[in-house]
Amino acid sequence: MAARDNARNIRRTGKRAGRLLGPIDTFNFENYEPIHIEETAEKCNIVIRLTGDHKVCIYCHDGLEALFPWGSKIQSVSDVPVRGKPCTLAIDRQRYRCEKCKHFSSMPLPGLHPKRRMTLRLFNYIRDAAALKTFAAIARMVGLSEKTVRNVIGDSHVQG
Ligand SMILES: [Zn+2]
Repeated sequence: MAARDNARNIRRTGKRAGRLLGPIDTFNFENYEPIHIEETAEKCNIVIRLTGDHKVCIYCHDGLEALFPWGSKIQSVSDVPVRGKPCTLAIDRQRYRCEKCKHFSSMPLPGLHPKRRMTLRLFNYIRDAAALKTFAAIARMVGLSEKTVRNVIGDSHVQG
């Protein structure tokens, strides 16, 4: 059900974006919806936001009714290539202030690598690509430095 709703959102947004329907159709990133896309000959940047209701205070866990929007911040991460172009996601991340415990918080972002500024699916993509391609070729495909690609492969080996 949720997956179908998500697909419907993506299609609807795709229509708004006119000729850029393609990359939005392939976006399909659970828990997020695309709200705007910028595409050049070399790369793609997709502005996204969390879907659904994530309004629970991460400090007192009881702030469902007590959280008030308190500005937002754009957080950029790298994602898997779209139509052969490196892709970045700009996540519109809402900040909240909890009326109960007075803490400020941002909602957790699922699907991101805990340490690297990239999605988990890009992390796995790089790891899988390493069996077939050189680090330099992968770096060009994903728009990251060769050093970053090497570090990702290194992480994979450590984690098994
Ligand atoms: Zn709280």
